[in-house]
Amino acid sequence: MDNLQHTIPVRNWLNAHSQPLLISGPCSVETEEQFVQTAKLLAATGRVHLLRGGLWKPRTRPNSFEGVGAIGLSWMVNAKNETGIPITTEVATAEHVEICLKHGVDVLWIGARTTVNPFSVQEIADALKGVDIPVIVKNPVNPDLQLWIGALERIYQSGVKKIVAMHRGFSHFGDSIYRNKPMWEIPIALNPQYPELSIFCDPSHICGRRDLLLQVAQKALDLGMDGLMLESHLTPDMAWSDAKQQVTPLALIELLDQLQVRATSTDDRNFVNELHALCSRIDKVDEEIIQLIAKRMNITGELGRYKKDHNITILQVDRWKEIIETRTMLADKLGLTREFIMNYLEQLHKESIRTQTRIMNDDAGGVPNRDNATNSTSL
Ligand code: PEP
Ligand code: MN
Repeated sequence: MDNLQHTIPVRNWLNAHSQPLLISGPCSVETEEQFVQTAKLLAATGRVHLLRGGLWKPRTRPNSFEGVGAIGLSWMVNAKNETGIPITTEVATAEHVEICLKHGVDVLWIGARTTVNPFSVQEIADALKGVDIPVIVKNPVNPDLQLWIGALERIYQSGVKKIVAMHRGFSHFGDSIYRNKPMWEIPIALNPQYPELSIFCDPSHICGRRDLLLQVAQKALDLGMDGLMLESHLTPDMAWSDAKQQVTPLALIELLDQLQVRATSTDDRNFVNELHALCSRIDKVDEEIIQLIAKRMNITGELGRYKKDHNITILQVDRWKEIIETRTMLADKLGLTREFIMNYLEQLHKESIRTQTRIMNDDAGGVPNRDNATNSTSL
């Protein structure tokens, strides 16, 4: 099945003459004046390509503002007519989809609390059958890549091809500077599986506070994400939801001006040549690393056979501790992080135990084939 293999990249359907691609607007549509005025200020920046505003707000606790609902659709349409910028809002039910389609909303988004529920996503997907409207699917609140992919697939299977995956971070228990932890490895894992799928980042909901927005937005761009969603509001401190993370249109521009937008490639001959030279050096180092790992495993095999001959256990706790201590000290001296080198050592240790266990269990006393093969090399 060609699941998600033929999505249409955002640059092919979103009209944009500036970088980065940007979705902005208030967390919630509050009043017609608030939305239209914010939209006008955003339009004046010339940097916003899609206007956002939440009409139906899924709130963590009851008795909070839950959105103005359908009445705000005509305010959003007015803002679009005044500014010429297309509009997007969050949908959580088939009814929301239908009413948005009736009013001419340009792009729909599925929120993190809806993505977690396959029944809800399927209901939305069914309501979208035969409709050509772009859909943004935010990651589920929990760090479950398969659940995110599943939601994207449900929308794709309904016939929607203009799809954006939006990274908005993941909820967690305990302290963090973030409202939702970015866990960058999750959107990074999505990219190689679906190279055509556009991925946006929503720093506002990751950070939950203004002062972190720039660094998270920059990281998203550095990772090659296709665009950003940043909440903005005429008077952020007075916002009816997510007040701490919203910025004024002016602050939005200041933030954008500080962002470094880097290209993913270039035609510049010198650059391409230099890049190839650097890549070849990396290829060579990688080859040497793999040769050295094989050499190390070969010695591990010898060690296993020696322990077996002398009836000694595989796991030598003191030796493992010594390896961790000396290797992390060296790594530290060389500027490598402890976390990185520990990950490497743990993988090495696992493989080494596996090799030695195989040797211990080899009743014939002979050497397993793989070791025979490595023994015969010049390593
Ligand atoms: C929002 O965009 O305002 C929103 C509710 O987002 P999320 O679904 O990411 O929490
Ligand atoms: Mn919000």
